[in-house]
Amino acid sequence: MSLSARPPPPEFSSRGSRKPRCDKRHRMRRGRRRCALLLCAHTALFALACSDAGGGRERALLIGIDGATFTVARPLLDAGRLPNLARIEAQGVSGPLRSFFPLLSPRIWTSMATSRRPAEHGITGWVYEDDEGSPHLYSSSDRRVPALWNILTAHGRTVAVINWLMTQPPEKINGVMVSDHAAPGAEGNQLWVANRFATKMFPDAKSPVDSPGAGSAFAYPEEWFERVARLRGEDALLAKSPNPFSSGASGLTPEIEQVLTVSFDSDLFAMRASLDVEQALHPDLLMVYLPGIDRASHMLWASFEAAQQDQPETQPLPEKVRIEAAALITYYERTDAFIGLLLERYSERDLVLVGSDHGFELVEYPDRIAGGHDSVDARDGVLFLRGAGISSDTKIGGFGILDVTPTVLAWFGIPVADDMEGRPIIFQDREPAPPIAHHDVGPIERVGRMEDDVEDRIIERLRQLGYIE
Ligand SMILES: [Zn+2]
Repeated sequence: MSLSARPPPPEFSSRGSRKPRCDKRHRMRRGRRRCALLLCAHTALFALACSDAGGGRERALLIGIDGATFTVARPLLDAGRLPNLARIEAQGVSGPLRSFFPLLSPRIWTSMATSRRPAEHGITGWVYEDDEGSPHLYSSSDRRVPALWNILTAHGRTVAVINWLMTQPPEKINGVMVSDHAAPGAEGNQLWVANRFATKMFPDAKSPVDSPGAGSAFAYPEEWFERVARLRGEDALLAKSPNPFSSGASGLTPEIEQVLTVSFDSDLFAMRASLDVEQALHPDLLMVYLPGIDRASHMLWASFEAAQQDQPETQPLPEKVRIEAAALITYYERTDAFIGLLLERYSERDLVLVGSDHGFELVEYPDRIAGGHDSVDARDGVLFLRGAGISSDTKIGGFGILDVTPTVLAWFGIPVADDMEGRPIIFQDREPAPPIAHHDVGPIERVGRMEDDVEDRIIERLRQLGYIE
């Protein structure tokens, strides 16, 4: 199946020209009902007044960048090459984001969204073995505690979750969830990583790793499954963000070029989905996860470090080192540009938190030396934070992965639960809600397996619309 590059219908392509929305989405926004009525009665002209009525404080944007580190970012920030992260830093605060071992992405990103340790939330790595000795990729069904999106849903807030790790099958939330299996090739990539762990952890397993989320739609609600399927073939944003690694002229080895191309396309897809959902839903909280910098750093770190060494002028850097180090810097710059596209849609008073799950270091593997994240040298990620009540004086010393969810909850005036390990930052202009014992969000519902004909029906509909040849 190939998805062609037809321009999207006007309602998705004209950024910023949001129609007044007297539809069912307004009914979902229980927390802002008066606002919705104003909009319906007086058109979008009153959107600003509406936002002021909420103190401009109700929205939050959470961007996760896997593996981003100040080792790379700081010199680039100082040189003005990451202007969007620099803007967040200048308007707010930045510093290390403390993580915990082992530095495995699924456990940490789930901890970030729950404020619970892996032993409590249930996702301890990429892969587990069932009672019959078959290895499985972890899925959202394995998470035993409510996540930010469930808690906001229970409080009548709208939330969009895009590409967050371990969200397949998607959960039924008050908003939109596009799972981490939605990007082209994403599920296959996760299974590849999981199989590498499985061969070490379960050498006697008789089968390759299975994905328990397979067969489910990768977005909720169903209308968004269709939209996301369509997004896979759109190139409106691609025209603004052409893949810098897919030209065949990057000078990188074909293997590295292929990994970077797939990673960049995957990040681009997550960003396109985020922009589309943001425009359609204007959610109270939008959280998006970009995995590409981690993958690029695994491939390019050795050259990046080599390029940092003092080099005698008479002895220029080897071409390979120069090209690979530059590619990692390019990846950071392009990620910063993605962040800029989202930032355009948020006011300076909105909460913006950009964070990563760990840093990077050179690791000696049995067969090679490459980028990795094993030791304390790679423990800390990055944190960029801005919004009303946050200034350069805001204390973030010791801020860690488990503090992210409490901080977002405090922003919305939602209590932090005693069973969460983290604590929120102190916002300078508000009292935190008194803590509660735990958040009772009721049973978490997930999208079930697709009926066999659902995908066929959607593909047929897209074909009729002209998106598929
Ligand atoms: Zn990694």
